[in-house]
Amino acid sequence: MSQPQEKYRVTIAYGDGIGPEIMRATLAVLEAAGAPLEYDVIEIGEKVYRQGITSGIPDEAWEVLRRNRVFLKAPITTPQGGGYKSLNVTIRKALGLFANIRPTKSLHPYVETPYPDIDLVIVRENEEDLYAAIEHRQTTEVVQALKLVTRPGSEGIIRYAFEYARAYGRRKVTCMSKDNILKLTDGLFHKIFEEIAAEYPDIEAEHRIIDIGAALVAARPETLDVIVTLNLYGDILSDIAAQVAGSVGLGGSANVGTHAAMFEAIHGSAPDIAGKDIANPSGLLNAAVMMLVHLGLADIAARIENAWLRTIEDGIHTADIYRPGKSKKKVGTQAFAEAVIARL
Ligand code: NAD
Repeated sequence: MSQPQEKYRVTIAYGDGIGPEIMRATLAVLEAAGAPLEYDVIEIGEKVYRQGITSGIPDEAWEVLRRNRVFLKAPITTPQGGGYKSLNVTIRKALGLFANIRPTKSLHPYVETPYPDIDLVIVRENEEDLYAAIEHRQTTEVVQALKLVTRPGSEGIIRYAFEYARAYGRRKVTCMSKDNILKLTDGLFHKIFEEIAAEYPDIEAEHRIIDIGAALVAARPETLDVIVTLNLYGDILSDIAAQVAGSVGLGGSANVGTHAAMFEAIHGSAPDIAGKDIANPSGLLNAAVMMLVHLGLADIAARIENAWLRTIEDGIHTADIYRPGKSKKKVGTQAFAEAVIARL
């Protein structure tokens, strides 16, 4: 008699804006692919902020997050200004998710991009830098934010980038910083990069000042392989990379720590298109694929990724990547998921 298959318990949050639509689409694909997952749904974000919980995360949600240790999260709307801290930043910090992995690949010729050969991975430091969000009011006219860079934090992320390059057969790691101006903070990050690079003679290492680095991501992305950088630069670079490759709606990401991991799309809650069934669910779906690999379910991950690629190749596109003449059919969020399911 065959053993019942082990099920993995995963925390999910439907999020705000387009979150519920893209989460429903993603879960439908996971279910059709037979992913052995069980879900605990937590309520975080806008509704919780409105109840006066300024972290956006109620206590019972923390318990579930800590217990399951694997979290698939749809985007959340962060109230701007005021007494609210970004819930994303809080979760990354509280669960010790020090590495944010954001791959970008061109889908040429199916998705329009000026660069057919993009295949890069941004490894973004995820807990420090300006995202420590230590801000002060000095006077009524002067405010200040502290940029935090530590040796353990920098060592952790830079080593992760080299180990990632080795594990995935990548040839080069590019460090991006602004150490010509920020000599202590970015200077420390660059110095540690040079130290750790020396331990990986099999992998090419280079450093770029972030401004020219960003220009390279925008204009010659095919020359880049793995990029390791500080938190804020990594956040900005990954949106540029995804947009240059076709759409921010395509990118998935993994937030990885020693004891837990969170998977999410790189984009936000897109309130401008929420509730219209037009959002591209690919970012969250790609994040779910990364989650399956993390859980050791690489076969199911590959099946879903291949079905997703075939859908894109067949010209079945959501509005963000739809181009008349190039695409075959413009579909909504749920119809895109159904097209992926039909190709599993
Ligand atoms: P956004 O990424 O939500 O949207 C930027 C643009 O890209 C919009 O025009 C939007 O329609 C489009 N877009 C985004 N995702 C798309 C998709 N899947 N398909 C098609 N088009 C898509 O950025 P924003 O408007 O600056 O932010 C909105 C909210 O999201 C803010 O409250 C912000 O704080 C939050 N946010 C959350 C996360 C997260 O939860 N991890 C990340 C970034 C921003």
